[in-house]
Amino acid sequence: MAKRDYYEVLGVSKSASADEIKKAYRKLAIKFHPDKNPGDKEAEEKFKEAAEAYEVLGNEEKRSKYDRFGHAGVGGAAGGGFGGGGMSMDDIFDHFGDIFGGAFGGFGGGGGGGRASAMRRGSNLRVRVKLSLEEISDGVTKKIRLNKLVQAEGVEFGTCQTCNGTGRVTRVTQTFLGQMQTASACPTCNGTGKTVTKSKPGVLPDGLERKEVEISLEIPAGVEEGMQLNVRGKGNEGPMGGPAGDLIVLIEETPHELFTRDGSNLHFDQYLNFADAALGTSLEVPTLSGKAKIKVSSGTQSGKTLRLKGKGLPVVNSYERGDLLVHINVWTPKNLSSKEKEFLENMRSSENFKPQPSDGEKSFFARMKDVFS
Ligand SMILES: [Zn+2]
Repeated sequence: MAKRDYYEVLGVSKSASADEIKKAYRKLAIKFHPDKNPGDKEAEEKFKEAAEAYEVLGNEEKRSKYDRFGHAGVGGAAGGGFGGGGMSMDDIFDHFGDIFGGAFGGFGGGGGGGRASAMRRGSNLRVRVKLSLEEISDGVTKKIRLNKLVQAEGVEFGTCQTCNGTGRVTRVTQTFLGQMQTASACPTCNGTGKTVTKSKPGVLPDGLERKEVEISLEIPAGVEEGMQLNVRGKGNEGPMGGPAGDLIVLIEETPHELFTRDGSNLHFDQYLNFADAALGTSLEVPTLSGKAKIKVSSGTQSGKTLRLKGKGLPVVNSYERGDLLVHINVWTPKNLSSKEKEFLENMRSSENFKPQPSDGEKSFFARMKDVFS
């Protein structure tokens, strides 16, 4: 297999500075690092190829030899056992540990510095809150009880003995490429670098304990069923002083006995007796904030909708409000006295009692039929 040009491998020009070469190699090393590409043979080859190129171009003397004689110039002379069969993973980590240390930590390597221990964030806590439409209409402060993980009092921490506080452990595995070292989170301290040195009954190994706490939750007006509110930092506290997770509030809505909700609009069914619908009347309808007067004009048909602007629900995070839609249903009497029956018998054949819907009053289906005929 013909060797590729080392400059080409690193993607730099022949006049690249030492710093540019180092940067180019670091980028490739991170991209093709075996920790990031487990089981990917092609990535592993690229990782090794880049290391080999850097072994030469990163060294002034070897680079000038390579510039004059090409691969032949550095083939046998180079240390580290590459040239013929390439470098082992172990060699790569040994030679270029500094590349993986410091800010690029997290990648293992014999020569590389381990990653600094990490504060572990607490887990998120979920809670359901049931609200009435009245509460949703105005917004509400709810006191809720939570059973959450908090840092136990009187518990002391010390440096983890397994990882000496680094939060990382290096594992050496034998692969077909030779020894490979990989760093992973310390299993003893879960990467925090600390362990509990003084505890008490009921405290978990990570220094947290369950506690019932009451908190005040401000729910904005206009929320609806299924919405989630994310309250930062009010979830379970983190182990070893780590930051708390979030509290996720799932909104549930108690169905209202009078109103049906549709986004920010409310629907209400108003039943009218036949006489009120025929003669017209004024009446009071309920709203979420007291009663409202409406006027029903004479000759109002069943199915008519009256709109009360702004009497619906607020739109969350805005000043807008939906409407209350009052649907008129004309009530047909069921149990009639003989006197009432007699009255209606007299009216039955009256010309004005004969249904004569105008276009606007036709049913939805009648209007559809008109469109298609
Ligand atoms: Zn540890």
